[in-house]
Amino acid sequence: MAVLIVLESENGELKSSSGELLSYGKALASFMETDAFALSMNCSVQNSIEKYGVQKVIEVHSEHLQSFNAKNYADCVAEVSQKLNCDIIVVSSSTNSKYMSGILAQKLEAAYTNNIVDLPLEKKPFTVKRSVYSNKAFAHTQMNATVKILGLTKNSFGQNVDHAATEIESFELTANIASSALEIKGQDTLEGQISIADADVVVSGGRGLKGPDNWKMIEDLADVLGAAMACSKPVSDMGWRPHSEHVGQTGKPVASNLYIAIGISGAIQHLAGVSSSKVKVVINTDPEAPFVKAADYAVIGDAFEVVPQLIEKLKAFKIQNG
Ligand SMILES: Cc1cc2nc3c(=O)[nH]c(=O)nc-3n(C[C@H](O)[C@H](O)[C@H](O)COP(=O)(O)OP(=O)(O)OC[C@H]3O[C@@H](n4cnc5c(N)ncnc54)[C@H](O)[C@@H]3O)c2cc1C
Repeated sequence: MAVLIVLESENGELKSSSGELLSYGKALASFMETDAFALSMNCSVQNSIEKYGVQKVIEVHSEHLQSFNAKNYADCVAEVSQKLNCDIIVVSSSTNSKYMSGILAQKLEAAYTNNIVDLPLEKKPFTVKRSVYSNKAFAHTQMNATVKILGLTKNSFGQNVDHAATEIESFELTANIASSALEIKGQDTLEGQISIADADVVVSGGRGLKGPDNWKMIEDLADVLGAAMACSKPVSDMGWRPHSEHVGQTGKPVASNLYIAIGISGAIQHLAGVSSSKVKVVINTDPEAPFVKAADYAVIGDAFEVVPQLIEKLKAFKIQNG
């Protein structure tokens, strides 16, 4: 019995979610009084893993894992978990992980739950705490299968540095994981843009910005902060911004460290999708806007005055602090 942590990577680098997954997997293994192993697919982890102290990282390199393919990834995780005798598998709550975990659960006859926000509440029966109803409530879910797949919500656990030595081992898959049903021929990625799912900081604009021509200041603020850009639903519905930036209940979820909402009222459907963000800042003229109550910090003021000043201050801060 052991815990296997499935790491995600992009362009040969571990994703920022890895630190939290490793910290959670390590704490979970300690809670279960067992070992923690990590699995990295098509990504060398030599220089990026040592801070988290898992016993061993298994590296699998295969041409069939070059681009994300849910079936191939599930096959790989299944083989490694069986080889290492792992009956708890920790995955992220990314879209790719969700695609993969259903197939993996079916393959291993495992129980799969996602949106997990903490260490298990009990070992026997194995009970996890998960957020439900768009983060409005928690459910305590019992997982009764022998193999359990746990999808961890981003930013729910945090990162614990642990400098215990980590062994890195290459692993050759014995099974042929090439999917005959689905073959990824190539992948196009948007250059120079930070994805909302992976961003530490997200700058988001709403109808209070009056029109698409006013987005330059949002771009400038995102630029100076190294942030991803997002927007409310009406903004994308009106075509001011692309639908890929729409966040909320019917858009993308945001679980960034910092979420800055500018000219967004904070309707329940918007808040539902951004409430997993750690620190929420709102800039709004209306002190009664729902987002003001939901935010950690609020600036009551006109975005057209506040945002340019904020950009100037941040630029000056960056110059002063190198
Ligand atoms: C089924 C359903 C699903 C939905 N899903 C989503 C979703 O996923 N995401 C989403 O965002 N919405 C969603 N909505 C829509 C949601 O209910 C709200 O209508 C929407 O979020 C409002 O967008 P907004 O805050 O940009 O605009 P508004 O509600 O019009 O708010 C604009 C805000 O800007 C402020 N403001 C005005 N001028 C300025 C200024 N100069 N400076 C600073 N602040 C200013 C105002 O005080 C106001 O608070 C959904 C609705 C339904 C019915």
